[in-house]
Amino acid sequence: MSKDTGKLKIYTAKRILTMDPGRPFATAIAINGDKIVSVGTLESLKPYMDRHPHEIDDSFQDNILMPGFIDSHTHMRFSGVYMMMYYVGPIESYGAKGGTNDPCLTRDDVLDRLRDIVSKQEDPNQPVLCWGYDPAKHDGHLDRDMLDKISDTTPIWVVCYAPHIIYTNSPMLKMIGVEEDTQEFGIGRYPDGRLNGWFVETSACTKAMAPLQDIISPAGSGEAAIRMHADACISGGVTATADMGWGFTSGLEAEWNDHEKVVNEPNFPLRVSLVPFAPSLEQQLGDKRWDYLEEKYSKATSRLTPHGVKWLGDGSYPAMTSMLNYPGYLDEDTGSKQDIPWEAMIDTMLPYWERGHRIHLHSNGDATTDMALDTLAGLLERKPRFDHRFTIEHYTISNPEQAYRLATLGGAASVNAYFAHYRPLLHSVHGYGPDRAEATARLGSLARAGVRFCIHADFNMVVVPMKPLEGAWIAVNRLAEDDKTVVAPGERISVEQALRAITIDSAWMIDREKDLGSLEAGKLADMAILAEDPLEVDPMNLRDIEVLGTISGGVVHKAKP
Ligand SMILES: [Zn+2]
Repeated sequence: MSKDTGKLKIYTAKRILTMDPGRPFATAIAINGDKIVSVGTLESLKPYMDRHPHEIDDSFQDNILMPGFIDSHTHMRFSGVYMMMYYVGPIESYGAKGGTNDPCLTRDDVLDRLRDIVSKQEDPNQPVLCWGYDPAKHDGHLDRDMLDKISDTTPIWVVCYAPHIIYTNSPMLKMIGVEEDTQEFGIGRYPDGRLNGWFVETSACTKAMAPLQDIISPAGSGEAAIRMHADACISGGVTATADMGWGFTSGLEAEWNDHEKVVNEPNFPLRVSLVPFAPSLEQQLGDKRWDYLEEKYSKATSRLTPHGVKWLGDGSYPAMTSMLNYPGYLDEDTGSKQDIPWEAMIDTMLPYWERGHRIHLHSNGDATTDMALDTLAGLLERKPRFDHRFTIEHYTISNPEQAYRLATLGGAASVNAYFAHYRPLLHSVHGYGPDRAEATARLGSLARAGVRFCIHADFNMVVVPMKPLEGAWIAVNRLAEDDKTVVAPGERISVEQALRAITIDSAWMIDREKDLGSLEAGKLADMAILAEDPLEVDPMNLRDIEVLGTISGGVVHKAKP
């Protein structure tokens, strides 16, 4: 290191978990600018301290430091579209203006809240927009007749947590421009053929959003959403994330500009990888997409970078639109294959695969995971490729043999482990049935097969918080929402494996393992500051460890109480 390097900052801690298996523990870390110079003890750092001016900071001497958590699958910019809406979801959530919004526990609670909102409207023609509905937790879907009972004059529009279903009343159907004889994919009907007010999956949902764009995405809301969720990241200990739907909401360029403005600010606490949504790339840029991506990669910084490409293979797990193998759904749900026909998947991905892009394929159902594996096998047959990191996103319902096949094909899995706590009891009677509901998020099988995996929250598109230590707690204990039932105990993993899944393995999943995910000389100084040691506490208390804040590129960000 050069002699005229500036002053070193040395933090001491009760213990530092480095996530470098060769040198797993330390008590002091030396930082220069945004990079780690050395990790060890005050004693071992001496060769650096002898050669460079330095300052020892013992603010964390009673705390635990570890690599900043990485949630490799979020949608923070997207939630800008939710900020102007009323919240009707079943858990507390970050909502409008950063406040915590109270949950609606039942469908009747939701209908009561809607009645209340409509009664307080000054202008009865002003549409009422809500988000956060959960057909499983709220014990069934909404429909046009129910919403007409709330109001048959004020347009009402309710979107599920993940935007896979939108429910509307008659005035809203009129506003969207759907007539009784409209025949389009995803527009729902009652058994007698009348419109039921549903818009299901991407093309129908896009239609249902079209007349509301000015209300849904006012200028500045995307930027505001990124800033707002940065606070949620600090309180979760998260220092890096990947947005898995770049281009999906307001367009690639507008979303890039929002991120470039906010994320590249000197003291912004979060690093973001933007993963373009393949259909957005194709629709918005056509053949210019290759030049566009190249241009964006040339503008990448250590804070903001493009990464990979994302596809959808099926619908939503909580909204019960995943694609299932036999025996399918308990009731009449059928799942959704999304817009790209499965048989066209290989051809659609091939141009990206041949150019070396990382592929992320969303798969919730076991039928979809079979398709994902066939697709990966097909791509490898067309063009063999090493270290391809083809990642199945969510990997929600699977079987143990799929994990071995994924290992054989060299793929990876980014798993929503939170579902194993929040949804199994619910889905054993709604949608998926006991076997599949119990074995949601099979991390144990992935570990046995030797597949590299990470844990994500999909924040805030599904009904779970973004708290990586809670994700780890779920992965280790698999305790369902009643806090008594252990679901599929053979799918539990060790604390060490769970911590890897929210740090170094998560970094690898988004191509950031060279500079993030562990505390080693030369990497970026991104850390989570914890009140207790995840390797010392009873594994049953992992989720209760207080996150005091984060360090991003050497800058401390305290969590808001
Ligand atoms: Zn997602």
